[in-house]
Order: sequence, then C-alpha cells, then structure tokens
Amino acid sequence: MNFNCWFTEIHNNNISFSVRVKNILYIGKSKYQEIVVIDTYDFGRALILDNTFQTTERDEFIYHELITHIPLFTHPNPKDVLVIGGGDGGTVREVLKHPVERVDFVELDEKVIEVAKKYLPKLSCKIDDEKVNLIITDGIKYVAETDKKYDVVIVDCPDPVGPAKGLFEKEFYKNVFKCLKEDGLMVQQTESPLYDLELIKNIAKYLKDAGFSIVMPYSYPMPTYPSGMWSFTLASKKYNPLKVDENKIKEKLKSMETKYYDEEVHKGIFLATPKFLKDAVKF
Ligand code: SAM
Repeated sequence: MNFNCWFTEIHNNNISFSVRVKNILYIGKSKYQEIVVIDTYDFGRALILDNTFQTTERDEFIYHELITHIPLFTHPNPKDVLVIGGGDGGTVREVLKHPVERVDFVELDEKVIEVAKKYLPKLSCKIDDEKVNLIITDGIKYVAETDKKYDVVIVDCPDPVGPAKGLFEKEFYKNVFKCLKEDGLMVQQTESPLYDLELIKNIAKYLKDAGFSIVMPYSYPMPTYPSGMWSFTLASKKYNPLKVDENKIKEKLKSMETKYYDEEVHKGIFLATPKFLKDAVKF
C-alpha cells in the first residue's frame, strides 16, 4: 500500500506548509491542547500542538542551540536557570551542556512532557537529569509568585494564543525582570520578523519599560515555522552579547558539541540582523 498522507499547517488562512507523513505516532488531547507526533519523510519526528509545528528532529538544533547558547554564553557564569515552556525538552538538553547548578523547568502541560519522553527521546533525553527541577504550572503565574532569583530565564513558548498569550504581555516581562539577579538576562521566542514585526516591536518596548537596558532581537532560518524566518529577543540588565570574548566561547566549546552555534555565530547573528528588524526596535 502506498501511504500518501500529508500534514498541513495553515497559517493565517492564506499560507500553508506541508510535509509527507510516514507514520502517525501519537494523537491525543490534554487539558490545554491537542498533541500530535508524526514521523515525516524529510524532517524526522515532529511535535504538533493545536495543528502548529513545535519542533522537528531535523531542524530543532537551530532553534534550541540559539535560544540557549546565546544567553548562556552572554552571561559569564550562569548557575541558576529558569526555562518556561519547552515541554519537548530540547532547550533543557542544551542548557545542561553548560556547568549550571540548577534548572527550574516550568511547563504548563505534563502531557507534552510525557509524550516527548516517549516519542522524542533525542530532545527529551535530559528532562530527568538530577539538576532539572520540573514544575508543572503556568509560567505566567510562576514568575509572578516566585521569590527565587535566576541568572538566566529562557522562555521557549509557542505562538501567543491560549495559555501562552500572557507570556507576551507587559506584566509578564516585569515579573521576569523581578526574578532575575541584578546582572541577569532573559531570552524569548518572538515569532516571525516577516509576519509579526508589530508584535516584536511591542515586546521590545515592554522589555525596555520593564527596565532591561539591553534589548536585542536576533533572527535565523527555521524551515518548519511560518515564513521560514524566525526570531528570539534577548533582554539583559548588564551583559551585552557583542562584548563577550570570542576566545572564551571558543575554549568552552571544545568540550561541548554544537551544530549551528559557535563563537562567530554568537556575534554574527546580531551583526547580521536585517535592517527592517533593527529599525522596528529602535526607540
Ligand atoms: N519551539 C516551540 C515553538 O516555537 O513553537 C515551542 C515548543 S514547546 C513544545 C512550547 C511549550 O510551551 C508547550 O509544551 C506548552 O505546553 C508550553 N506552554 C504554553 N503556555 C505556557 C505557559 N503559560 N506556561 C508554561 N508553559 C507553557
């Protein structure tokens, strides 16, 4: 039998991206979302939440390395890290390549963790590490209530809809600022520069208003996300990613395996920020 099955993500009713499916591994529903894992011909296994690609085995390294190593190499000595979202485990896996002491991993949906552990072991392989403290709760509520202080906060969130909407709002950034140490920094997934420029502009404004002195978006290719061009935004109280000593990164990378990130990418990704994106966040 020739199994000719395709998964199509439709973006804003007008654009779609399709992959041919080899096998459907899991379909289920949690309290928060519909969860699907498929095996595809060209992208390996893919996690889909509410019909939206979250991650695929083929291109996840681009996203997870850049959301993690840029902030963790910008901070000179990150020990306490908070990851919000990121239920597939890819970000936690990358964080643990650094000599951190503790990772508080705040994910809303324990079903995503359970499914990732079973079907996406390449990503979820470090979730049960002894340094990881998994907290199943809403990240918005967590940062509003916690007394803990972190060196780095990483917000590995989906699109700003449903329970993730508040992760893109003013109040959230004020609370993240509050739970960072005085030289702390944060990074967040901030959507497509091409399709969501207004959102990125608002996020940058909220971050500045929250008190961060350095706010810098960075963009990169992401084949399975709408427009193929994606962004993170770094917000820092003190450290500037462009002032990091490349030689120190190079030295540390000798004992760390990466596929996308290196000391040249660390600065180059900011230096190559497209003009329209830089202009959008100039105030
Ligand atoms: N890389 C992905 C992207 O750009 O779409 C995000 C991947 S990760 C699977 C996103 C996770 O954020 C999901 O597992 C979801 O359950 C979680 N999430 C959504 N809203 C959240 C919230 N308010 N607090 C904590 N986690 C949340």
